[in-house]
Parts: sequence; C-alpha cells; structure tokens
Amino acid sequence: MIGLIGGMSWESSAEYYRIINREVRNRLGGVHSARSLMWSVDFGEIEHLQHQDDWDELTRQMIDAGRRLERGGADFVVLCTNTMHRMADEVAAAIRIPLLHIADPTAEKIKAAGFLKVGLLGTAFTMEHDFYKGRLEKLFGLEVLVPDAVDRRVVHDVIYKELVAGEVRPESRTAYRAIMARLIERGAQAIILGCTEIMLLVSEADSAVPLFDTTTLHALAAVDRALA
Ligand code: GLU
Repeated sequence: MIGLIGGMSWESSAEYYRIINREVRNRLGGVHSARSLMWSVDFGEIEHLQHQDDWDELTRQMIDAGRRLERGGADFVVLCTNTMHRMADEVAAAIRIPLLHIADPTAEKIKAAGFLKVGLLGTAFTMEHDFYKGRLEKLFGLEVLVPDAVDRRVVHDVIYKELVAGEVRPESRTAYRAIMARLIERGAQAIILGCTEIMLLVSEADSAVPLFDTTTLHALAAVDRALA
C-alpha cells in the first residue's frame, strides 16, 4: 500500500492521486486502482511555518505524518512536495518503512535521457538550499542551474500566491516561459519542474528543451514500487 503525505498543496496531491490510479488501471486493466493511504495536512499552517523559517516544527510534523502512515499499514512513504524533502533524511530515519525520495526518479530519468546540465524551478527553499541541488549533484553527477534572484522571486511568488490556491494565470505562464528560456540560454539541456504544482501551469509546449515533471515522475515511481 502506497502511503502519501499530501496537502502541500492539495492541488498537486490530487494530481498524484489521479496519476497513480490511472497508471495502475493502465497496467492492470479493468477497473483496478491503487491501494493507498494519504495523510493530508493543512497547508495554511505549513506555509506559515515555512515563511517563519520554523523548520524544526515542520520536521516534527512530517515525522508525525510518516509515522501515521506507517501505523496505518503503508509499505512506503511518498512525500508529495519537493520543498519538504528538506527534512527527508529525518523522516526516513524516524520510520521503518522506506521513503521514496522525489529527486531520485527525476534524476534517473534525466540521466537515462543523456542530459547532464539541467535547470531547476521550484520554491526559493528548493532552488536556494542544498538539500535538493546537492542531491542531484552529489548522487547523480548533474550540473544544476537555477534562475537569477529576480526570476527566482517570480517563480516562488507564482507558486505561493497562485498555484497552491488553484489559480493558473496566462501571464504567469508567459513569465515562466521567459525564465525557462533564460536557463536554456545559459546551457540547460532540460528543465526540472521541481515543485509539484508547476505542471499545472506549464507543459512541453512552453519549453524548447524537455521538461522533467517531479509530480508525474514521483507518482509513477510509486506505482513501480507498489506493483513490484
Ligand atoms: N508543492 C511545492 C513543492 O513541491 C511547494 C509547496 C510546499 O512548500 O510544500 O515544493
């Protein structure tokens, strides 16, 4: 049974649920669907703690969520957000079942496609701290480019002011297209959609290089593991 820590935001958790169940039906046929358990948090509280920089409390809450899924019978944990992988190691250490890290299936696909230099879009936390870029660089040997400070602000604000609230605005898509184009000019061979809501805003048509959507790749990796 797949254990999902969701609600960050529920807009993207709904996509995980849809992708996982659709994939299980595709693979098993008929009306098969995935056995899963989701613990879904109040993102209002989470977002407040993030912007207060209270990562200790956030870590406690993610560990609590992981333990709830473990007690509920989950075989492994899928943390449905890139940003909250900042405390992935602490969560993994606090439970006996495995945590399926969001960066890993993404990096594996990028490497399999032969790309070495990738652009990364995500929240400021994801783009600016080492927990995510560092994993891609150290474990997978990828070179990771992030937008400049002005562009990072735009990417972050669109996520927190619009996408997590279910708002998809054409002018924000235009802004993201320009930001991706600047990453490509700097040498990005592919772009990681390193926030689980970005796939609601942009698609392949918005980029001159391939996009690697963490929501889809993480959800599909969960299906691989569940059916293995
Ligand atoms: N879903 C987002 C992510 O993948 C941002 C929301 C959050 O901070 O968890 O990073």
